[in-house]
Amino acid sequence: MNFSEDWKAFDRDHLWHPYTSMKAPLPVYPVVAAKGVRLVLENGRRLVDGMSSWWAAIHGYNRPELNRALRRQIASMSHVMFGGITHPAAVALGECLVELTPSPIETVFLCDSGSVSVEVAIKMAIQFWHARGRSEKNRLLTIRSGYHGDTFGAMSVCDPVTGMHEIFSGVLPRHYFADAPECAFGSPWDESDILSFEELITAHHEEIAAVIMEPIVQGAGGMRFYSPEYLKQVRMLCDRFDVLLILDEIATGFGRTGKLFACEHADISPDIMCLGKTLTGGYMTLAATLTTRKVSEGISSGSPGLFMHGPTYMGNPLACAVALASIELLLDSPWRERINAIEKSLREGLSPCASMSHVDDVRVLGAIGVVELDQPVDMARVQKRFVEKGVWIRPFGKLVYTMPPYVIGARDLKKITRAICEVVSEL
Ligand code: PMP
Repeated sequence: MNFSEDWKAFDRDHLWHPYTSMKAPLPVYPVVAAKGVRLVLENGRRLVDGMSSWWAAIHGYNRPELNRALRRQIASMSHVMFGGITHPAAVALGECLVELTPSPIETVFLCDSGSVSVEVAIKMAIQFWHARGRSEKNRLLTIRSGYHGDTFGAMSVCDPVTGMHEIFSGVLPRHYFADAPECAFGSPWDESDILSFEELITAHHEEIAAVIMEPIVQGAGGMRFYSPEYLKQVRMLCDRFDVLLILDEIATGFGRTGKLFACEHADISPDIMCLGKTLTGGYMTLAATLTTRKVSEGISSGSPGLFMHGPTYMGNPLACAVALASIELLLDSPWRERINAIEKSLREGLSPCASMSHVDDVRVLGAIGVVELDQPVDMARVQKRFVEKGVWIRPFGKLVYTMPPYVIGARDLKKITRAICEVVSEL
């Protein structure tokens, strides 16, 4: 395929990209193929992928096993409605998710994207209390610096500042925000870290349906890694005050932090869990909201006795088939060793940045490496430099970060960390 100048002009004039302007669009790079850990640009240049297409493509691109699973599924059925119908791909995926996720998670709601799974989780929590005759429990408690998606419900629990709540202030529901945890992952625990959260849940539990947060890693809200003790305390407080706990494992699920699910670092489990991104190995959009039997039976009792959500493409067979194949591929691989090796290599490779005067912090957890600068970077300029160095890294704000595919080799990973150190040193 060749991208003519006309195609590029059409893209610039007519296609929205994530978080961009139609008046002053940032440059986009035409990718014509992707294989293994490489993206192929139209000019033939190959870039080592440091982003896993936003946490999703953990096995690299164009995997024969995943291609085969899709071909097999397409030969029997690409899609069929889920209302009044079921099919083998959904059942097999559901079984696998129930088996893998921490007990007592037992039921699965399949939906279209991470944001939608968060909407579903919020609706489930509110419906749970409504069915018990406690409709006043309809607000949420979360922590600052979080990110849960771009739809309205999800946006209402994103960090109010980076989530730009003021633009939508008239329409967004208002929830409670505790201070973000300050105790970093691996640092000593300080009891005062939980105080702001404890105060809010103590004062408002009568109207709080659920706490929602990302376990251990706060992703798009700042790439912060916090202490498992914080999460333990949150679980205890939720139990004490009769508040449900929703854990958004959309970015962290399936091994990224070194555990299959990040909540395992704290040895706790949620009442409702959201999965997405990595779920299909980066092949198709699919997410899932999982709950305990207590939550699913609570919702299904009382009024209206049904869960009020049902997307057109719910349980899409192609997405379910590739998700199952992706999970099998992960579990059949030495993923723990791979993540440990990536973690070690990221620590070594990014360490030179720590001594640079304009770098505020360098942190690594599992297969996530972050360099935080003292001021926001010029994204277009920095992106261009990374492309010139043969790697795909997309910074945002003050953060230059990488979460490579789990299958990346030592040499390619070195190429990524070297490029990050060089580009950061130029800033
Ligand atoms: N929750 C978290 C933790 C995420 O990182 C994201 C995506 N960055 C979402 C929710 C939203 O997922 P999606 O973009 O698929 O709607």
